[in-house]
Amino acid sequence: MKKDLSNIKKSKFLLNRNECIGIPTETVYGLAANAYSDLATSKIFKLKKRPKNNPLIVHYYSLENLKKDCKINQNFIKLYKKFCPGPITFILKLKSKNKISKNVTNKKKTLAVRFPKHSLTRKLLKELDFPLAAPSANISTKVSAVSKKDVEEEFGNKIKFILDGGSSKIGLESTIVNLDPKPAILRLGAIEVSKINKVLKNKVNYKSKNNKNSVPGQGKLHYSPGIQIRRNVKNPKKHEAFLLIKKRKISDKNFFYLTKNNNLNEAGKNLYKTLRMIKKLKYNSISVEKIPNKGIGQTINDRLIRASKR
Ligand code: AMP
Ligand code: MG
Repeated sequence: MKKDLSNIKKSKFLLNRNECIGIPTETVYGLAANAYSDLATSKIFKLKKRPKNNPLIVHYYSLENLKKDCKINQNFIKLYKKFCPGPITFILKLKSKNKISKNVTNKKKTLAVRFPKHSLTRKLLKELDFPLAAPSANISTKVSAVSKKDVEEEFGNKIKFILDGGSSKIGLESTIVNLDPKPAILRLGAIEVSKINKVLKNKVNYKSKNNKNSVPGQGKLHYSPGIQIRRNVKNPKKHEAFLLIKKRKISDKNFFYLTKNNNLNEAGKNLYKTLRMIKKLKYNSISVEKIPNKGIGQTINDRLIRASKR
């Protein structure tokens, strides 16, 4: 606990000086910087090699803080009450007088906002006089980081500090909901579309193919371990890594279980960790057992499809 306090102090010190640091969240680790600072946010893009036209998600401590920068609406309040703090990102209209750096939004009039649940990051946000712009802590298009070690692997000593909050509990990114003005899912994520639909009492649309609502950074290769991925495979080829979700009678050293009993939340939590491990073991090809395309399974399939696009 004492260590946590001194780490939060160190994080605050660096963020106040326009540095980028790694932060833990319940979804994946973030590469965080002062969202009000042009200098700090420009460093995020450089470190991640992220195209400037791919806007960042901004992390707030409270509704009160958010209201300084964004306009809120009824649908937002409903979803906020049900899911926040938690793994959901909202697209809201910016107020004309807001302090968000122009780097964050790529000159858009909307902002992606989130209230992360991880207790250490909440403690840190509470201490700061600004919200944190924090995309996933990985080099652009690569696999997201779900532990301090993963973030170190991505950025080495290019970042000065990583706040260690253990392994990310969910291990998949937030669901992004556009609320400006008509609700639409822009990215599948940790919260199932059906749960969002239940709160909003009307069908929120999500079209996976040619999604005209699709956001920058979502259409092309993403979450990629740099290895070819084949889905819906019953029997893998000899030298392929094989991802499974159900225990088989006969096992093989090339088998990697995301879960042994079809628990898709567990599979989601283990996905990126396992892809990273397979890459380190230098496999040339990955095959994946069929994963049911419902609930969190839909999000896992979405990530696998994007990871396997060549
Ligand atoms: P990540 O790198 O995982 O943090 O991804 C953030 C995602 O949020 C990217 O796909 C962005 O394109 C999306 N995003 C951020 N701001 C906006 C915005 N104002 N409107 C639509 N999508 C956004
Ligand atoms: Mg990302």
